[in-house]
Amino acid sequence: MSAIDEVKQRTDIVEVVSQYTTLSKSGRILKGLCPFHSEKHGSFFVYPEQQSWHCFGACSTGGDVFSFVMKQQDICFGEALRLLAERAGVTLPSKGMQGAEKEKNERLYQANKAATDYFHRLLVESPSAENARSYIARRKLSEKSVADFELGYSPNSWDSLKKHLMERGYRDSELIEAGLVIETEPGDSHDRFRNKLIFPIADDRGRICGFGSRVLDNSSPKYVNSPETPIFSKSNILYGFKLARHAIKQQDRAVIVEGYMDVITAHQNGFGNVVASMGVAVTGKHINLLKRLTKNIVFALDADAAREEAMLRCVGYENTIGNEVKVIVMPQGKDPDDVIKDDKAVWQRFLAEAKPILDFTFDMIIAGLDLTRANDKTIAAAKLLPVISHIKDVIRQAHYLQKLSHIIDVDERTLEAAMKNLMPSLSRGLVEKPKTTSVTLTFSSSPLEDYCLSLLLQHPELKSYCSQILPEYFEGSENREIFIALKDHKDALSIKDRLDSAIWEHIDRLTNKELPSSNNIEQKLTDCISRLKLIYFKSLETKRGVIFASEAESKGSGADRLKLEEEGIEPSSQMRDIFRQRSTLGHRKRKY
Ligand SMILES: [Zn+2]
Repeated sequence: MSAIDEVKQRTDIVEVVSQYTTLSKSGRILKGLCPFHSEKHGSFFVYPEQQSWHCFGACSTGGDVFSFVMKQQDICFGEALRLLAERAGVTLPSKGMQGAEKEKNERLYQANKAATDYFHRLLVESPSAENARSYIARRKLSEKSVADFELGYSPNSWDSLKKHLMERGYRDSELIEAGLVIETEPGDSHDRFRNKLIFPIADDRGRICGFGSRVLDNSSPKYVNSPETPIFSKSNILYGFKLARHAIKQQDRAVIVEGYMDVITAHQNGFGNVVASMGVAVTGKHINLLKRLTKNIVFALDADAAREEAMLRCVGYENTIGNEVKVIVMPQGKDPDDVIKDDKAVWQRFLAEAKPILDFTFDMIIAGLDLTRANDKTIAAAKLLPVISHIKDVIRQAHYLQKLSHIIDVDERTLEAAMKNLMPSLSRGLVEKPKTTSVTLTFSSSPLEDYCLSLLLQHPELKSYCSQILPEYFEGSENREIFIALKDHKDALSIKDRLDSAIWEHIDRLTNKELPSSNNIEQKLTDCISRLKLIYFKSLETKRGVIFASEAESKGSGADRLKLEEEGIEPSSQMRDIFRQRSTLGHRKRKY
């Protein structure tokens, strides 16, 4: 059995989901408020028998336990797999890099370093960079900052970097892989960054792994960044980390901001413990980087970023670092960059007054509610109880339970009972110690999904068919991941670079799977896709059916059906379309 299968077998989706939202039993399924979008009536369902989930509300998507954790924590498949494997006590094959791969990545780092030096020299010396230098002057960046952060200028040209690096022995394909050059069509490529201010991005070891860039006028998009490459992923890199390391350790505190300029301005003004998540949501990997240096983390968010779901995710990080996470929210329309430039003392005061993220989350959730109404009290409890029960520290947990009881004026013991009843498994955190007993849940990989991927992997010429397939047609997250990578990239070899090594075995199996003769291969794939599509919509239909049945069973009223339909949970018309298509295709015998 593969490691992925084993993790699936030993994990119960109900336990995992219950950590993020309150689930209540409704017949054979469980129902709750969707943890990914704001709603007042639950349109989020968990199907224990299939070990799957689906949001019939705004998200309109679903999947297995991996896709749930990926979405919840905003992490990639490999990270979700590692978290769940650790929780289930499954050892994954180690992610040792092959020699050739290591060598290849080394070349990418070198190309990035050469590009950094080239851009930096231009910014400092070239007459063509006048525009960039005056922008820097307007933003009040010092010479020292420009040097420390190795800022650069990319000239207004389609191929000057490409030429410069090719003269130094780099191949076009390497520059494309490093994200420095864009391939428009086979054999035709040009520089990615043109007429931009360049921010080289270093990893925790100080190696340049990617670039951010900003336009020098008011055109949009304002920022262009490196794409994800074998050595660059925003989800595990913090801008400024290498430079901030020392100050974070010394001051025993790290501040996470959003943008490049925020970091540079902070450092220039003596706040060296500032790093940036570069506009993406902070991930568990970011937290792990900082955790080695400090347990005190402050998020500086702009007013728009301080949303409910972002806060709830942050709460999960408290258990990872074993300490309270704090948050400061910038005044509307201002970045830390503006605040610090306006008045250093204000930034210092903000930091001193940083609020524990849980208090902040309480305020935010309660803000929209009328707590004299019973229904709004229920909403407040439904949203906050899962968060509170997720707190590992018992004293802090008691504190927030008390706080909730006070705010909604409901007895603490009632809330405690509700918390325990609804979420029996909450004491087990996602990254907590492995369970000793393993639950056996039915899991079977779908031969049809495998067959479809095998066809696509073994016949790259069929790639255009990917556009007819939704990632959701693949129920298994590992298959979904392979499909997404395949759609975006070229071949089995390069998709392996993108995917976690735990999936490699599965990819190899699919790539080497013996397929029937290659006659009529396009027809075979078309058939396969239409079957996948049918199964997907059928299963969606079944899931909807189960909801109706369960509602009727538990309440026995036709009014519920009306209510569900009002919420958008109604039989789809897509099934009819599929059957129509299939009847015109006629029936063929298939063998997988
Ligand atoms: Zn949703």
